[in-house]
Amino acid sequence: MGGVTAYVSAFELFSIGVGPSSSHTVGPMRAARDFADRLRAGGTLERVARVSCVLYGSLGATGIGHGTPDAIVAGLADLAPETVDPAAVRERWSGWQDGDTLELAGSHPVMFVRKDITFEPFTRLPGHPNAMTLSARDAAGALLASDTYYSIGGGFIRREGEDAHAHDHVYPIQYRSADTLLTLAGELGLSIAGIARLNEESRRSRAEVDAQLDAIWSAMTGCIDAGLHATGLLPGLLQVRRRAGAIREQLEGEAGTGTALPGDWLGTFALAVNEENASGGRVVTAPTNGAAGILPAVARYWAEFVCDADDPREGMREFLLTATALGSLFKANASISGAEGGCQAEVGSACAMAAGGLTAVMGGTPQQVENAAEIAMEHHLGLTCDPVGGLVQIPCIERNAIAASTAVTAARLALRGDGSHYVSLDTVVETMRQTGIDMSTKYKETSEGGLAVNVVEC
Ligand code: SF4
Repeated sequence: MGGVTAYVSAFELFSIGVGPSSSHTVGPMRAARDFADRLRAGGTLERVARVSCVLYGSLGATGIGHGTPDAIVAGLADLAPETVDPAAVRERWSGWQDGDTLELAGSHPVMFVRKDITFEPFTRLPGHPNAMTLSARDAAGALLASDTYYSIGGGFIRREGEDAHAHDHVYPIQYRSADTLLTLAGELGLSIAGIARLNEESRRSRAEVDAQLDAIWSAMTGCIDAGLHATGLLPGLLQVRRRAGAIREQLEGEAGTGTALPGDWLGTFALAVNEENASGGRVVTAPTNGAAGILPAVARYWAEFVCDADDPREGMREFLLTATALGSLFKANASISGAEGGCQAEVGSACAMAAGGLTAVMGGTPQQVENAAEIAMEHHLGLTCDPVGGLVQIPCIERNAIAASTAVTAARLALRGDGSHYVSLDTVVETMRQTGIDMSTKYKETSEGGLAVNVVEC
């Protein structure tokens, strides 16, 4: 039905992991863990004496600021982003004492030194700008295994030589464009969330889908609360001070005075998530870590200031499923990776997903949902990725707050119309893809241009 599918499960698009980056932390950790798993499955684990890793392109350029080597060492030791205590990842490599033993795959001791991870920022492999090659050798130095992985955004990975679609689930409702999605919604008499739900329920029972969506929301809102109650400086050279906790105190102090507006809370929720992310905390990719604050902030804004139901959970499920159906289009037809498409691919996609989700829970039609997503994405086209110091802090944290307010504006504009509009979401997605190709690599998570070179690090 509807051609090759774009659909990506909500439980892949929104994965509970660790900060500060889905492509530079979560993806590499998954890749390293997969490599170690494959050594074990292939029967060579016991013969391995040394492992090494080369980080290419964007991973090589900004990997240290993103905690990439720490994540790789954690992954080699069989730690998973979904379940690991974030504190167990931080400084795993940067604080490594040479001579310590690494428990490869969690069970096999090998010698490891920090120089076993090397950086080649000016080498870009053809598969993707975020590339890494892991190698294992025996005691005589003979190569036992070597695999190149690409971290393709949002924590997703691809191993070179592997069929990218080999493990794809065949969903009952298939679409590759927003246009087809809207046609299907009309033919089936379903909302966009309803279509996503049918796809999810082809893999899990309704109760499991609901429980897992609730768990995602619980992790998202828990991340907001953690950020709202944290103070101090974020890790890294920039010495950026956390703001969400201080603003929360101000807003609580202004309660009842009419000066603390819902929009103030909206931005503060986003700051809270991205400050947690920057500190390497527990974060849900939405669809990436760098853009992880937008969707939770907009959803919590809806739950606290718009929703009049006693229990917002049903609406939250609709919000997440709508955002999933939309986010799948960005991933399939353009990119959700800052290293591939610039910040338009991360923050722009997240903003569009949040705008569509909010429109849906505010009673919008599928056409209005598509319109809201289109408005949100259209006004992020060309947005560059230029994190200062290679850290997901400036401009990333504040940018999430701004994009959250853009998502609300886009939803409100769309809800005031009838869903008809001039530029289609499909056109904007294709424009984002083309703009990403045209964008200089300086602006694609390499910290070689923009704010990253104009802001003097102290
Ligand atoms: S500038 Fe945007 S894409 Fe780049 S790291 Fe920050 S949030 Fe991610």
